[in-house]
Amino acid sequence: MKIAVYPGSFDPITNGHLDILKRASDAFDKIIFLLSVNPSKKSRFSIEERLFSMKEVAKGYPNVEVDYCDGLVVNYAQEKGAKFIIRGLRAVTDFEFEFQLAAANRFLQPDIDMVFFMADKETSFISSSTVNEMANHGADVSTLVPPSVSELYKKKR
Ligand code: ADP
Repeated sequence: MKIAVYPGSFDPITNGHLDILKRASDAFDKIIFLLSVNPSKKSRFSIEERLFSMKEVAKGYPNVEVDYCDGLVVNYAQEKGAKFIIRGLRAVTDFEFEFQLAAANRFLQPDIDMVFFMADKETSFISSSTVNEMANHGADVSTLVPPSVSELYKKKR
């Protein structure tokens, strides 16, 4: 069984993340949609809120399960028998960061490969930080995020 982990901060999930999740779920037998948190990093949404919206989204995909990890993603993947880590690429700026991350991961776990999906042109401009910035200024972001995230913004207004 080909298992892949799709890790991220998902603070919050956007339609860009969803596009990658959907395509990855078509390509692999099982996807672990992983909230990977760095406890020292400031976040807009709590771990519980992020996990809730990830679980809501995962309901649409029978081969996607949601989990949480505060350690190294490569070690998590190794424990779960996942040989692939999924990431999305939006622009050249993503590439530099992801290239370095892939090299570091390969150093730690040479038998785990990172697999990159190119962002769709419709959603390539979307990032969690841009959506948060828009929402902070009262913009309607409901077409950029899944419904469960829209609801979270309404509650937090
Ligand atoms: P991280 O803090 O680990 O980068 P993010 O939640 O920001 O977590 O992103 C998780 C992954 O999803 C990253 O590989 C990122 O490049 C990718 N991603 C984010 N937004 C988009 C988008 N609009 N289209 C495609 N991939 C995206």
